Amino acid sequence: MTAYEDFYRRSIDDREGFWAEEAQRIDWKTAPQQVCDYSNPPFARWFVGGTTNLCHNAVDRHLEKRAGQAALIAVSTETNTEQVYTFQQLHAEVQRMAASLLELGVQKGDRVLIYMPMIAEAAFAMLACARIGAIHSVVFGGFAAGALASRIEDSSPKLIVSSDGGSRGGKAVEYKPLLDEAIAQSSHKPSAVLLADRKLTTMKIVAGRDYMWSELREKHLDTVVPCEWVDSTHPSYTLYTSGTTGKPKGVQRDTGGYAVALAASMKHIYCGNPGETYFSTSDIGWVVGHSYIIYGPLIAGMATIMYEGLPTRPDGGIWWSLVEKYKVTVMFSAPTAVRVLKKQDPALLTKYDLSSLRALFLAGEPLDEPTAQWISEGLKKPIIDNYWQTETGWPILSIANGVEEKTSKFGSPGVAMYGYNVKLLDENTGDELTGAGQKGVVAIEGPLPPGCMQTIWRDDERFVKTYWNSIPGKLVYSTFDWGVRDQDGYFFILGRTDDVINVAGHRLGTREIEESISSHPNISEVAVVGIADALKGQVAVAFAVVKDASALVDDAARAKLEAEVMKVVDNTIGAVGRPARVRFVTVLPKTRSGKLLRRAIQAVCEGRDAGDLTTMDDPAALQQIKDLLA
Ligand code: ATP
Ligand code: MG
Repeated sequence: MTAYEDFYRRSIDDREGFWAEEAQRIDWKTAPQQVCDYSNPPFARWFVGGTTNLCHNAVDRHLEKRAGQAALIAVSTETNTEQVYTFQQLHAEVQRMAASLLELGVQKGDRVLIYMPMIAEAAFAMLACARIGAIHSVVFGGFAAGALASRIEDSSPKLIVSSDGGSRGGKAVEYKPLLDEAIAQSSHKPSAVLLADRKLTTMKIVAGRDYMWSELREKHLDTVVPCEWVDSTHPSYTLYTSGTTGKPKGVQRDTGGYAVALAASMKHIYCGNPGETYFSTSDIGWVVGHSYIIYGPLIAGMATIMYEGLPTRPDGGIWWSLVEKYKVTVMFSAPTAVRVLKKQDPALLTKYDLSSLRALFLAGEPLDEPTAQWISEGLKKPIIDNYWQTETGWPILSIANGVEEKTSKFGSPGVAMYGYNVKLLDENTGDELTGAGQKGVVAIEGPLPPGCMQTIWRDDERFVKTYWNSIPGKLVYSTFDWGVRDQDGYFFILGRTDDVINVAGHRLGTREIEESISSHPNISEVAVVGIADALKGQVAVAFAVVKDASALVDDAARAKLEAEVMKVVDNTIGAVGRPARVRFVTVLPKTRSGKLLRRAIQAVCEGRDAGDLTTMDDPAALQQIKDLLA
């Protein structure tokens, strides 16, 4: 067995011993008495009897050794500001925020909703909640009133932390009117709203409800707020999934298991060392922002960059200039962002000194081979795909270079990560598929490892029903992704289980067809959906964005490109995968987190209602498809 295989086997076969060791990576006030209580499956309780605090582990415990080192680097290319907070300064700001929350009546266990742009105050608010044992619920700042209202309703926060506005592409975006409207729409009313005024827009203040952070901060400049030691199983936060496949689910996370999982992943997967700088380009509104902008890097004693702005402004080199300036060693982004950069001048990738950077991690969507190849050749750095979900909080599949160096295989997010007993199952029979090349549902045998969701917020029944009851005859967690494994144990994600297409009895993942189409030199992005067909059951239809639009000058040119694309599919997958039509669009419908909304495209193609679109980014994209079909 290789070193990683050994490590992995132990995490499954000697779960208790393995995680007892990993638990040493964090500070406990009281040591856990039991590593894992799985007496009531599928509910797992990790590090039972232990008490700890996330904020202590992220901030306070570093004061002794690195008080003067950078902890939070807030960069905005929207307001052209850069501010570096040392651990000492972060500690002070978090206590001011915590004192303000306490003054406004927030107590341990209360929910605090955070609706903020990517500014330092958002990080202060998250850490302040953790400090006092309040449960934060961060809502992506780009969401409109309706999406925000449903999250206020579901999490029933005592208090909301927000701001006058954000900024996108240099234009101020008002938050406050959306927040007021969302509170009006919700039957639950928070008792207070705490506002960071950036002076980007003018705010209407609701007397008796709205408070200014600048004033409370002033009042609490020197207030000491000790960390509240909470049970390991105390909920640290709730967070909604991206809503790619339907109505978002409110994921609830614990405290101790999460801290241990993040500390372990920083060591084994991301290989980040104390004193270095981590740069994740995500947003605090997503799980990557929680785990790998805020908690993971800080728990590891690293500085973390919070970036507000577009990847292409002032130009497509902005991220790499930050890598140079702050000597970033570990970077994390998403395939969708890389596809944006792909349209920029490739010389920008080599303009800056990237010698500090060891690896670029990508997650969130399938990383197609051409995109992986492009960024890998441009940066000349290892590109490491990692596959996970809001539900799991940290990678299910990746490579763990901190345990044993492995090379990535482009198109594959890697092997099962330690702690995850990953199986491929036949979705009809529940049988385990062990052979290389067999396709099935990616499932995880319980207990889920530390850091994964405890339950759906206030809905244990929905947790069990949604995730654990979909495979016949087995209590097993379904990821609702479809995959295949090769002889080396590397997985390939073929698409969501909803996205599997059944063409005349052949089951194909949309991903397989998309991967094939995107290998055409003039295709930059593509979405494939299965459409009901009287003859074949289903047929594949592709919607593609071209790189060079001159290939679409007239109908004849369009038909030529369509035929070329079909030919590519014929040659790579075979005629069964050939889309019935390839349509060309300028933009594809996505969630605000950058994921393709295939279910919405499919619904529109089949003339059905497109369902919950509250997390959709640009409605014009779906309209374009409607217009094409009309
Ligand atoms: P919802 O569950 O509300 O429909 P969502 O699944 O998009 O939304 P997230 O938790 O943000 O919400 O995304 C997790 C999903 O993203 C995974 O289940 C998988 O489909 C996809 N995904 C994430 N990382 C990768 C990756 N590296 N390769 C392929 N797919 C990935
Ligand atoms: Mg999901």
